[in-house]
Amino acid sequence: MYDVLIIGSGVMGMSIARALNSEAYRIAVIDRDIPGKHASYKAGGMLGAQNEFNSDSALYRLALKSQQYFEPLAHSIAEEVGIDIEYRQSGLLKIAAEAQHSHQVLEQYEFLQQHNPQVRLLTNKDIQQYRNYDISFPTNTAFHIPEDHQINANRYTKALLASLHKRHIERIFSTEVTDIQAGHEGYSVCTNKGKFAAQKVIVAGGAWSHYLLNGQLKAHEPTGVKGEVMLFESRDIQLATTLFFTDGCYIVPKMKQRYLIGATSYFNDYSVNVTAGGMQCLLHQALTYVPALGNATIIKHWSGVRPYTNQEKPVMDEIQQGLFVITGHYRNGILLSPVVGELIALWLKSGVKPEILNDFKLGGCTSGSYY
Ligand SMILES: Cc1cc2nc3c(=O)[nH]c(=O)nc-3n(C[C@H](O)[C@H](O)[C@H](O)COP(=O)(O)OP(=O)(O)OC[C@H]3O[C@@H](n4cnc5c(N)ncnc54)[C@H](O)[C@@H]3O)c2cc1C
Repeated sequence: MYDVLIIGSGVMGMSIARALNSEAYRIAVIDRDIPGKHASYKAGGMLGAQNEFNSDSALYRLALKSQQYFEPLAHSIAEEVGIDIEYRQSGLLKIAAEAQHSHQVLEQYEFLQQHNPQVRLLTNKDIQQYRNYDISFPTNTAFHIPEDHQINANRYTKALLASLHKRHIERIFSTEVTDIQAGHEGYSVCTNKGKFAAQKVIVAGGAWSHYLLNGQLKAHEPTGVKGEVMLFESRDIQLATTLFFTDGCYIVPKMKQRYLIGATSYFNDYSVNVTAGGMQCLLHQALTYVPALGNATIIKHWSGVRPYTNQEKPVMDEIQQGLFVITGHYRNGILLSPVVGELIALWLKSGVKPEILNDFKLGGCTSGSYY
């Protein structure tokens, strides 16, 4: 019998397993696929703890905290498994894509600036300077967030996997969980390859988590939001800061003169293909904002499915004794994963729920009252 069985080998499941790491527990992470297929490997890698928020909330505070983990984590995980997760202190420019969006950008700026005086509205002179770095500003309303850095999400997810391996945490792949049955002592996790017994079960199945929970996430309207991205390479462009436009387009400068362009959003779409329409849309936006990308080489494109819940708020709760669900991190799962891993591990080890997680309850009820 496992002490903890985690369903889902994305950044959420693996961060929890890594933080739980203890001689005292028998842990396994189970996944229906082989590594590399889902959102965690496909993300843009932006650590947008400020870019993503325009008001105070528990999620905003968690995001700020989690952002702080990445610099030390980049060093410690490289030492542990020899993978560089490419933490880059690029900062981020938030830019109004249309004149009508200027008001919302200024409001967000005012909120962020109250908490962080380093967030700075761009002057016309700043904008002129950035134009020299190949950016074509659609409006003159933009601000700079110096701390919203980035990593390579694909390398980060691979590093977490290598870390679990090094820590002798069991990983069971190509095994699909079909049901979770409560027993006298813990749970029986049914799969296409037989049953596994566990004292505690964590459902961290990303955009598919609700399929395992018999409608219990229904109030949160869970769904998958497919996103497509493209990767360009260009020796001509000097862009070193992430650009994030209010129409959803972002351009993230990566290592080796590469630029990640994202992202489309299709609600309730779990398909894995990349569409011609999606590519056309991304190309149009990217070339409008950074015309010099017109000469860039397209290296590759891909898609992934973000786990969405209503109000864009994750669910992190114990839905009945010993059965937990950790999902719905939508556009910010990479950013949030270290702090979530640590909080859930703390909860499992101590038996005491960290207070901040009360904001992410199932159905808005206290756990226990759901049944
Ligand atoms: C295009 C794109 C860009 C993004 N950019 C960013 C970004 O810049 N910054 C950021 O912070 N976040 C970003 N995200 C969001 C981030 O990728 C997700 O929030 C995060 O990866 C979710 O992690 P997860 O572990 O919950 O889910 P996943 O990575 O989807 O992992 C879930 C796993 O559960 C497994 N599973 C599901 N059901 C079962 C079952 N029945 N049995 C066994 N296994 C099962 C799946 O096979 C999968 O491996 C982006 C996402 C996309 C798609």
